[in-house]
Amino acid sequence: MINGYEVNHPGSKYALMRGFEKISDTVKVETCDLLGCEVCGAPSGDRLCKSCNLLKQIKLI
Ligand SMILES: [Zn+2]
Repeated sequence: MINGYEVNHPGSKYALMRGFEKISDTVKVETCDLLGCEVCGAPSGDRLCKSCNLLKQIKLI
């Protein structure tokens, strides 16, 4: 999904990563006691993160 976006918007992936680094610094303390998504490992308060939950609902995983 990100790679497809990158084709139309060169540089956006880099910007996204930079943004994520900033965010991860800020939320590090709050996310450490969250469960990880059991599909992709993303920090999540549930067994599945929001993305995987959505994918599961539309039966992609
Ligand atoms: Zn996930």
